[in-house]
Amino acid sequence: MNEMFYRQSALDCIANGLLKNYRNGMYLYGAPRSIPIEEIIEVEYKLTIEYVKLRKSGNVLGQTVFENCFVPVYDKENEQYTIIEVQPGTILIDEALLEEENMGRYRYTLAHELSHWILHHKIFDNS
Ligand SMILES: [Zn+2]
Repeated sequence: MNEMFYRQSALDCIANGLLKNYRNGMYLYGAPRSIPIEEIIEVEYKLTIEYVKLRKSGNVLGQTVFENCFVPVYDKENEQYTIIEVQPGTILIDEALLEEENMGRYRYTLAHELSHWILHHKIFDNS
């Protein structure tokens, strides 16, 4: 797939637009508070978050699925990769991010994967 590049100012504009329209902009203009990233993903964008072991090495933390497809995930119990079917509009998150000490990385990865959905899902709509 071709790489797509966005100017930082364009990405800021898209993110600000999202927050401006979400709950009357309370997360943009209100008192500082953490952005409910899971709620935005699941309620606002109607995407599904699934927790799996994406790679044995742990070096892939998130993956956004645009079309119905089969994804290899690592089965720790049987120590081998297995293939799972994933529905479009699913964000796969490595289960290691559910550890308390990875909460910052978890939230960052969710936001990162949501940005893939927002920026790229239109490419797949007509395919
Ligand atoms: Zn990415």
